Amino acid sequence: MSMTIQNDTALVLFSGGQDSTVCLAWALTRFSRVETVGFDYGQRHRIELDVRPRIRERLMAMDAGWKARLGDDYVVKLDALAAISDTALTRETAIEIADSGLPTTFVPGRNLIFFSFAGALAYRRGARHIVAGMCETDYSGYPDCRDDTVKAMQVALGLGLDKRVIIHTPLMWIDKAGTFAMAEEIGGAGLLDLVVEDSHSCYLGDRTHRHDWGYGCGECPACRLRARGFAEFKNWPRAK
Ligand code: ZN
Repeated sequence: MSMTIQNDTALVLFSGGQDSTVCLAWALTRFSRVETVGFDYGQRHRIELDVRPRIRERLMAMDAGWKARLGDDYVVKLDALAAISDTALTRETAIEIADSGLPTTFVPGRNLIFFSFAGALAYRRGARHIVAGMCETDYSGYPDCRDDTVKAMQVALGLGLDKRVIIHTPLMWIDKAGTFAMAEEIGGAGLLDLVVEDSHSCYLGDRTHRHDWGYGCGECPACRLRARGFAEFKNWPRAK
Protein backbone atom coordinates (compact mmCIF):
# COMPACT_ATOMS: atom_id res chain seq x y z
CA MET A 1 0.00 0.00 0.00
CA SER A 2 1.53 3.31 -1.00
CA MET A 3 1.15 6.10 1.48
CA THR A 4 3.30 9.05 2.39
CA ILE A 5 5.32 8.12 5.43
CA GLN A 6 5.43 10.88 8.01
CA ASN A 7 8.86 11.35 9.54
CA ASP A 8 7.61 11.00 13.11
CA THR A 9 7.35 8.47 15.90
CA ALA A 10 4.04 6.92 16.94
CA LEU A 11 3.31 4.87 20.03
CA VAL A 12 0.55 2.31 19.51
CA LEU A 13 -1.56 1.01 22.40
CA PHE A 14 -1.23 -2.62 21.39
CA SER A 15 -3.17 -5.13 23.48
CA GLY A 16 -3.00 -8.02 21.05
CA GLY A 17 -6.69 -7.68 20.23
CA GLN A 18 -8.28 -7.33 16.81
CA ASP A 19 -8.65 -3.56 17.02
CA SER A 20 -5.16 -2.73 18.21
CA THR A 21 -3.61 -5.13 15.69
CA VAL A 22 -5.30 -3.27 12.84
CA CYS A 23 -4.26 0.04 14.44
CA LEU A 24 -0.66 -1.14 14.53
CA ALA A 25 -0.73 -1.98 10.82
CA TRP A 26 -2.40 1.39 10.16
CA ALA A 27 0.42 3.18 12.01
CA LEU A 28 3.09 1.22 10.11
CA THR A 29 1.75 2.64 6.85
CA ARG A 30 1.99 6.22 8.14
CA PHE A 31 4.88 6.82 10.53
CA SER A 32 8.61 6.35 10.07
CA ARG A 33 8.98 4.78 13.50
CA VAL A 34 6.34 2.85 15.40
CA GLU A 35 6.67 1.57 18.94
CA THR A 36 4.14 -0.50 20.90
CA VAL A 37 2.96 -0.59 24.48
CA GLY A 38 0.78 -3.16 26.23
CA PHE A 39 -0.68 -3.13 29.72
CA ASP A 40 -0.78 -6.04 32.13
CA TYR A 41 -3.57 -5.21 34.59
CA GLY A 42 -4.38 -8.72 35.73
CA GLN A 43 -6.94 -9.20 32.96
CA ARG A 44 -8.55 -12.65 32.86
CA HIS A 45 -7.86 -12.74 29.15
CA ARG A 46 -4.17 -12.22 29.88
CA ILE A 47 -3.50 -14.52 26.93
CA GLU A 48 -3.87 -11.45 24.73
CA LEU A 49 -0.45 -10.37 26.00
CA ASP A 50 1.03 -13.69 24.88
CA VAL A 51 -0.12 -13.27 21.28
CA ARG A 52 1.53 -9.85 20.93
CA PRO A 53 5.10 -10.95 20.04
CA ARG A 54 3.86 -13.30 17.33
CA ILE A 55 1.70 -10.57 15.78
CA ARG A 56 4.67 -8.22 15.73
CA GLU A 57 6.85 -10.91 14.12
CA ARG A 58 4.27 -11.70 11.46
CA LEU A 59 3.81 -8.01 10.64
CA MET A 60 7.56 -7.66 10.18
CA ALA A 61 7.68 -10.73 7.95
CA MET A 62 4.88 -9.33 5.83
CA ASP A 63 6.50 -6.12 4.65
CA ALA A 64 10.13 -4.93 4.60
CA GLY A 65 9.06 -1.35 5.23
CA TRP A 66 7.01 -2.38 8.26
CA LYS A 67 9.98 -4.36 9.55
CA ALA A 68 12.23 -1.32 9.22
CA ARG A 69 9.77 0.95 10.97
CA LEU A 70 8.59 -1.27 13.84
CA GLY A 71 10.58 -0.39 16.93
CA ASP A 72 10.58 -1.33 20.60
CA ASP A 73 7.76 -2.96 22.54
CA TYR A 74 6.92 -2.20 26.16
CA VAL A 75 4.73 -4.11 28.58
CA VAL A 76 3.72 -2.01 31.58
CA LYS A 77 2.51 -3.83 34.66
CA LEU A 78 -0.50 -2.13 36.24
CA ASP A 79 -1.23 -4.40 39.20
CA ALA A 80 -2.69 -1.41 41.01
CA LEU A 81 -5.55 -1.27 38.50
CA ALA A 82 -6.50 -4.89 39.21
CA ALA A 83 -6.22 -4.25 42.95
CA ILE A 84 -8.80 -1.48 42.87
CA SER A 85 -11.08 -3.06 40.25
CA ASP A 86 -13.95 -5.45 40.79
CA THR A 87 -14.98 -6.27 37.25
CA ALA A 88 -15.63 -9.28 35.08
CA LEU A 89 -12.31 -8.70 33.31
CA THR A 90 -10.24 -8.79 36.46
CA ARG A 91 -12.20 -11.18 38.73
CA GLU A 92 -14.24 -14.34 38.29
CA THR A 93 -17.40 -12.26 38.04
CA ALA A 94 -20.25 -12.99 35.66
CA ILE A 95 -20.34 -10.93 32.48
CA GLU A 96 -23.66 -9.10 32.64
CA ILE A 97 -25.18 -5.65 32.78
CA ALA A 98 -24.57 -4.03 36.16
CA ASP A 99 -26.89 -1.65 38.02
CA SER A 100 -24.96 1.23 36.44
CA GLY A 101 -26.30 0.15 33.06
CA LEU A 102 -22.77 -0.74 31.95
CA PRO A 103 -21.48 -4.27 31.36
CA THR A 104 -19.47 -5.78 34.24
CA THR A 105 -16.56 -5.94 31.78
CA PHE A 106 -16.19 -2.19 32.12
CA VAL A 107 -12.99 -1.43 34.06
CA PRO A 108 -13.52 2.10 35.42
CA GLY A 109 -10.71 4.45 34.56
CA ARG A 110 -8.84 1.88 32.50
CA ASN A 111 -8.38 3.85 29.31
CA LEU A 112 -7.70 7.06 31.21
CA ILE A 113 -4.87 5.29 33.03
CA PHE A 114 -3.61 3.68 29.81
CA PHE A 115 -3.45 7.08 28.11
CA SER A 116 -1.63 8.62 31.09
CA PHE A 117 1.05 5.92 30.99
CA ALA A 118 1.20 6.00 27.20
CA GLY A 119 1.63 9.79 27.36
CA ALA A 120 4.51 9.46 29.83
CA LEU A 121 6.16 6.82 27.66
CA ALA A 122 5.57 8.78 24.46
CA TYR A 123 7.14 11.83 26.08
CA ARG A 124 10.26 9.87 27.02
CA ARG A 125 10.48 8.26 23.57
CA GLY A 126 9.95 11.50 21.69
CA ALA A 127 6.75 10.19 20.14
CA ARG A 128 4.30 12.91 19.20
CA HIS A 129 1.60 10.51 18.09
CA ILE A 130 -0.38 7.97 20.10
CA VAL A 131 -2.53 5.48 18.19
CA ALA A 132 -5.34 3.68 19.98
CA GLY A 133 -8.18 1.36 18.95
CA MET A 134 -11.06 2.97 20.83
CA CYS A 135 -14.30 2.80 18.94
CA GLU A 136 -17.59 4.47 19.63
CA THR A 137 -19.57 2.41 17.13
CA ASP A 138 -19.80 -0.93 18.94
CA TYR A 139 -18.08 -0.05 22.15
CA SER A 140 -20.39 -1.86 24.58
CA GLY A 141 -21.23 1.54 26.08
CA TYR A 142 -17.80 2.04 27.66
CA PRO A 143 -17.66 5.79 28.34
CA ASP A 144 -13.85 5.88 28.11
CA CYS A 145 -14.00 4.71 24.49
CA ARG A 146 -16.00 7.76 23.44
CA ASP A 147 -14.49 10.23 21.03
CA ASP A 148 -15.04 13.09 23.49
CA THR A 149 -13.17 11.22 26.24
CA VAL A 150 -10.23 10.57 23.92
CA LYS A 151 -10.14 14.18 22.73
CA ALA A 152 -10.24 15.40 26.34
CA MET A 153 -7.29 13.11 27.12
CA GLN A 154 -5.39 14.54 24.16
CA VAL A 155 -5.91 18.04 25.53
CA ALA A 156 -5.04 16.97 29.10
CA LEU A 157 -1.82 15.26 28.01
CA GLY A 158 -0.81 18.19 25.84
CA LEU A 159 -1.29 20.60 28.72
CA GLY A 160 0.14 18.36 31.43
CA LEU A 161 3.25 17.46 29.45
CA ASP A 162 3.55 20.90 27.87
CA LYS A 163 4.08 19.11 24.59
CA ARG A 164 1.77 18.53 21.64
CA VAL A 165 0.38 15.01 21.67
CA ILE A 166 -1.91 13.78 18.92
CA ILE A 167 -4.13 10.79 19.67
CA HIS A 168 -5.28 8.91 16.58
CA THR A 169 -8.25 6.56 16.78
CA PRO A 170 -8.62 5.18 13.24
CA LEU A 171 -11.46 2.85 14.27
CA MET A 172 -13.57 5.39 16.15
CA TRP A 173 -16.42 5.52 13.64
CA ILE A 174 -16.33 2.07 12.07
CA ASP A 175 -17.75 -1.21 13.36
CA LYS A 176 -16.10 -4.63 13.65
CA ALA A 177 -16.96 -5.51 10.06
CA GLY A 178 -15.28 -2.27 9.02
CA THR A 179 -12.22 -3.19 11.06
CA PHE A 180 -11.86 -6.49 9.19
CA ALA A 181 -12.29 -4.57 5.94
CA MET A 182 -9.62 -2.08 6.99
CA ALA A 183 -7.20 -4.95 7.68
CA GLU A 184 -7.80 -6.32 4.20
CA GLU A 185 -7.43 -2.88 2.66
CA ILE A 186 -4.11 -2.21 4.42
CA GLY A 187 -2.46 -5.60 4.09
CA GLY A 188 -4.62 -7.79 1.85
CA ALA A 189 -5.42 -11.41 2.61
CA GLY A 190 -2.20 -11.80 4.58
CA LEU A 191 -3.09 -9.18 7.16
CA LEU A 192 -6.68 -10.39 7.33
CA ASP A 193 -5.42 -13.91 8.06
CA LEU A 194 -3.08 -12.58 10.74
CA VAL A 195 -5.91 -10.71 12.44
CA VAL A 196 -8.17 -13.76 12.37
CA GLU A 197 -5.53 -16.30 13.40
CA ASP A 198 -3.42 -14.42 15.92
CA SER A 199 -5.25 -11.46 17.39
CA HIS A 200 -7.24 -12.23 20.52
CA SER A 201 -10.64 -10.87 21.61
CA CYS A 202 -12.30 -13.45 23.88
CA TYR A 203 -12.84 -12.13 27.39
CA LEU A 204 -12.45 -15.63 28.81
CA GLY A 205 -9.05 -16.11 27.17
CA ASP A 206 -10.21 -19.15 25.21
CA ARG A 207 -7.82 -20.19 22.45
CA THR A 208 -8.97 -23.77 22.10
CA HIS A 209 -12.05 -23.23 19.90
CA ARG A 210 -11.28 -22.11 16.35
CA HIS A 211 -14.04 -20.43 14.36
CA ASP A 212 -13.90 -18.78 10.92
CA TRP A 213 -13.41 -15.46 12.75
CA GLY A 214 -10.60 -16.75 15.00
CA TYR A 215 -10.22 -18.31 18.46
CA GLY A 216 -12.59 -17.82 21.37
CA CYS A 217 -15.37 -19.24 23.51
CA GLY A 218 -17.93 -17.97 21.01
CA GLU A 219 -20.29 -16.92 23.77
CA CYS A 220 -18.86 -13.89 25.58
CA PRO A 221 -19.72 -10.37 24.35
CA ALA A 222 -16.28 -9.91 22.76
CA CYS A 223 -16.59 -13.17 20.80
CA ARG A 224 -20.14 -12.39 19.73
CA LEU A 225 -19.14 -8.94 18.50
CA ARG A 226 -16.19 -10.34 16.59
CA ALA A 227 -18.22 -13.20 15.09
CA ARG A 228 -20.99 -10.88 13.97
CA GLY A 229 -18.52 -8.39 12.51
CA PHE A 230 -16.73 -11.11 10.56
CA ALA A 231 -20.01 -12.49 9.18
CA GLU A 232 -21.07 -9.01 8.07
CA PHE A 233 -17.68 -8.37 6.51
CA LYS A 234 -17.84 -11.66 4.58
CA ASN A 235 -21.28 -10.75 3.25
CA TRP A 236 -20.29 -7.34 1.95
CA PRO A 237 -20.45 -6.96 -1.81
CA ARG A 238 -16.96 -6.68 -3.24
CA ALA A 239 -15.54 -5.23 -6.43
CA LYS A 240 -13.95 -8.03 -8.43
ZN1 ZN B 1 -15.24 -15.41 24.31
